[in-house]
Amino acid sequence: MRLKISEIVKAAGGKLLCGDGNTVVTAFSTDSRTVKTGVMFVPIRGEKTDAHVYIDSVFENGAAATFTDHEIPLREQPVVLVNDCRAALQKTAAYYRSQFELPIVGVTGSVGKTTAKEMIAQALTARFNVLKTAGNQNSQVGVPQTVFGLKKEHTAAVVEMGVSMPGEMARIAAVVKPTFAVITNIGVSHIEYMKTRENILAEKLHIADYLPEDGILFVNGDDDLLPALKDSCRRKVVTFGLGPLCDWRATGLNEADKGTFFTCVSRSGEKLEMFVPAAGLHNVRNALCSMAVARSLGVPAEEAVRAIAAYKAPAMRQQVFELNGLVIIDDSYNASPDSMRSALDVLMTVRASGQRVAVLADMLELGEYARQGHWEVGRYAREKGVDRLLGIGPLSKDIVAGYGSEKAEWFASNQEAAARLRELLQAGDAVLVKGSRGMKTDEIVSALKAET
Ligand code: ATP
Ligand code: MG
Repeated sequence: MRLKISEIVKAAGGKLLCGDGNTVVTAFSTDSRTVKTGVMFVPIRGEKTDAHVYIDSVFENGAAATFTDHEIPLREQPVVLVNDCRAALQKTAAYYRSQFELPIVGVTGSVGKTTAKEMIAQALTARFNVLKTAGNQNSQVGVPQTVFGLKKEHTAAVVEMGVSMPGEMARIAAVVKPTFAVITNIGVSHIEYMKTRENILAEKLHIADYLPEDGILFVNGDDDLLPALKDSCRRKVVTFGLGPLCDWRATGLNEADKGTFFTCVSRSGEKLEMFVPAAGLHNVRNALCSMAVARSLGVPAEEAVRAIAAYKAPAMRQQVFELNGLVIIDDSYNASPDSMRSALDVLMTVRASGQRVAVLADMLELGEYARQGHWEVGRYAREKGVDRLLGIGPLSKDIVAGYGSEKAEWFASNQEAAARLRELLQAGDAVLVKGSRGMKTDEIVSALKAET
């Protein structure tokens, strides 16, 4: 990436306070600690600190330039005055994006964005040189950063787009201008800020704001809210899912330990034998979505099928592995009621001769829905036949209560739960470990590994 300060000033609608407009910027950073030569600093006002205090130090570390939202002492290097530094970064990214013409797939949804993004990118690699979001950089800052990764040699991009507050999707959609968009589902993540699922849908739908006339919105046809978009969206909507009405659907499912075999059937008459190497029906949906996108972008069917069969799950997201005769499902990356249910389904389908044990920690950011959401997850675990449940964290008391038997126990910390697990587990058992990222349930997985 190379942008001149003069271009940045124009794109961001800012004013150059000092320095040379011909200075070249090769990257942006919001983290003062990572600023080095060639980098333009983007000081953001956070809840605790206002990063403008680091402006002197980033220049000591060789920063090329900085944005600022107020007048600061003039210096030799370029300082660009803007109203809002985050918005300036986004506008600059939108300008950078406009220099490229390529298919860009925007991916949003309440759960499964990273998983879907990875699988779609994997399907597209069969024919494209794909830029994809690194890890989980789906935020108001992460999305512009992803866009700055675009290079002339890329022939397609898959960008994860997350929102937690109203108004956020419209802003990042203007940055990415996806030519294809995916909505994985409408759940209850971030309902604390959005209040209702209908609001969440309306917010996410802004991902389609910039779809070109031949752009397509791909949505989960098994979701209760999404298929209706077929009638209301001004762009073509294609559904994927297990239901018989979906445009891309799966039949003949055969769930194996580490994935599912199925026949992928499309409304246009394609019929393909597939394997998705990741457990759970939600991954069948992710595979169907990836096929639908890949075929729309002209990837030959057999090549997409082969690419998906070679998919590897990103770290901590429902990784199934064996350890000392135990089957472990590490899903420590994150948790919401929807993904808890899908993970419990996986726990019930993996091959295990012994008990099926769910170690479930708090799901954060559910707001008023927290108590009910936790209780329902506990109840679901009981109904599905989970043999034992360990709840961790204050909110998880409701998971334990929802399960409603002495086979569900509650622990205040990962350490205590890990100690109890050690007593409980025997060869042949299967264990699911899952909780919100802040609960760090990967500590449990590490404790289990440390015993070997
Ligand atoms: P974040 O909001 O943190 O970015 P995300 O939307 O990217 O989350 P993932 O990290 O892909 O979601 O997955 C989170 C959890 O949801 C994992 O447990 C994953 O296995 C599960 N999951 C993945 N795809 C789906 C899906 N389509 N439906 C339900 N659960 C899913
Ligand atoms: Mg993600």
